[in-house]
Amino acid sequence: MQPPEGTATKLAVRNATKVYHTASGDLLALDRCSLEVATNEVVSIVGPSGCGKTTLLWSMSGLHHLSAGDILLDGTPVTGPRPEIGIVFQEANLLPWRNLDANIAFPFEIKRQQPDPAWIDHLLHRVGLDGFGGKFPRELSGGMQQRAAIVRALALKPSVLLMDEPFGALDTFTREEMNRLVEEIWLDTPTTIVFITHNIEEAIFLSDKVVVLSPRPGRVASEYRVPLPRPRSFEVMASREVFDLTNAIKGEIMGQRVPRGAAA
Ligand code: ADP
Ligand code: MG
Repeated sequence: MQPPEGTATKLAVRNATKVYHTASGDLLALDRCSLEVATNEVVSIVGPSGCGKTTLLWSMSGLHHLSAGDILLDGTPVTGPRPEIGIVFQEANLLPWRNLDANIAFPFEIKRQQPDPAWIDHLLHRVGLDGFGGKFPRELSGGMQQRAAIVRALALKPSVLLMDEPFGALDTFTREEMNRLVEEIWLDTPTTIVFITHNIEEAIFLSDKVVVLSPRPGRVASEYRVPLPRPRSFEVMASREVFDLTNAIKGEIMGQRVPRGAAA
């Protein structure tokens, strides 16, 4: 199953530029970064550490203001947090004094909205957490906490899900399980997803498009299409096509690295 071709742009980043004003001077994190994400497309953003990936994602979520440029959601500028946008961070960020149910309810309390219990039950079931609602974060493994964070974000029925290295802290096997889970969730309820990772295999497995950012200041260096049908089997992921694509992306990122001693 593939997202329909020729669908409208869901999220557009136009010349995003971000300067951080710090005590030691101005730091240009993003420089005229532009990309588009189509409706129900999964796009991964990869690039060297510190190139501005998190800055870009926070700008997309409306949590950060750009110094210049625009983020457009369905054609309208994102200037602050929007209910249509959900976000999952590297840390699950569950409140330790609340059980899982109360953590999932928390955003609804803040927004003074009524949750949809049937949808939340469906999500908990989908991620294998049914029966865990009364558990506290300390009683859950890292993978389970991150699954809970995904449920918390999806409970609000976002039309765009932003994920910032959500599985970066998990072991390899749990990470692969989580990747399969994201694929299943997407097949179940197609959603527009922007996924940040520095794991190229993960980016290719999940995405319709992989966007490579340049070293800081982040700018789109190139985009790679991943025209593979879903679900993506082990056989497909072990194919020559995927191997070559992985190497092309890795080579580009490695090639971008400034050799030691060559920095100006
Ligand atoms: P990435 O997620 O790709 O590792 P970030 O977006 O976190 O990159 O950071 C990009 C650059 O901006 C880095 O040099 C980082 O140190 C700097 N930076 C990030 N957030 C801030 C901030 N709040 N204040 C000052 N500098 C920041
Ligand atoms: Mg980051």
